[in-house]
Amino acid sequence: MIKVKGLKKSYGGVEALKGISFEVHAGELFAYLGPNGAGKTTTIRILTGLTKPSAGDAWLDGFHIEKEGLKAKRRFGLVMQSINLDQELSVWENLDLHGRLFGMGRSERKDRINELLAYVDLIGRKGSLVKELSGGMKRRLTIARALVHAPAILFLDEPTVGLDAAIRRRIWALIKKIQGQGTTIFLTTHYIEEAEFLADRVAFLDEGRLVTIDKPQNLMAQIGAWAIDQMDDGNIKTVYFKSRQEADAFVMMQKGSFTVRRVNLEDSFLSLTGKKVQC
Ligand code: ATP
Repeated sequence: MIKVKGLKKSYGGVEALKGISFEVHAGELFAYLGPNGAGKTTTIRILTGLTKPSAGDAWLDGFHIEKEGLKAKRRFGLVMQSINLDQELSVWENLDLHGRLFGMGRSERKDRINELLAYVDLIGRKGSLVKELSGGMKRRLTIARALVHAPAILFLDEPTVGLDAAIRRRIWALIKKIQGQGTTIFLTTHYIEEAEFLADRVAFLDEGRLVTIDKPQNLMAQIGAWAIDQMDDGNIKTVYFKSRQEADAFVMMQKGSFTVRRVNLEDSFLSLTGKKVQC
């Protein structure tokens, strides 16, 4: 559904993307995980036609993003990191405007907007001005807006950034629901748990390069199943184990403070890149 080949992007002297290639299958939830500045937003901006690549090609549902830009544009919905709703318009008006921009007729828009408002649990707020909504509601509205024209692909750039844990989980449930309806989802995040919980496959991005792509459980299994963090000369040292029994046996021989926990994607990212996703 998404195909990317040799994508590069330079901003002046900064090489934001250094030759990226990957494919996302239809119906898949693909997470693009990397620290700040890795090139996540740049990739989304190129795929959605907001900026041109310096080199390389990409296709959305078979349409080349530059040579068949208009057709490619109809295939996706986009939720950017910043809330770019019209604050002075109502919830309904924001969605209706989007439908008009995509050339949808009046009754088609009405049906689709009612359906989406029920879907994102905002039906009771359809007449409210956007500026009156909470942060979590605004985020759900931006997701609904991206879905008005029933796109095959949904791009979500850091969809839960700045939201508290409970609202983040609500957004996760919504994202899963959207995938359940057959939409292919490309999600960027620097939240480890988000990628672990949501993704069918995860791509690790670091300094404009793809480090690896695999299922979260495979990436974690390469490290082990359990981890012990302990203080060592003022630094945290982590040791990995295949089983809880091995970790327990190690603990019996230790002095000082330590924590036993499950291995997570941060461990995997750290072992492959030498750095953490979340600083
Ligand atoms: P974040 O999680 O902080 O949004 P990111 O992984 O999305 O980070 P990008 O925003 O794609 O990273 O940025 C990649 C690199 O390109 C960074 O070094 C950034 O400073 C640089 N960059 C991005 N946009 C521009 C621009 N318009 N002009 C100059 N440099 C840019």
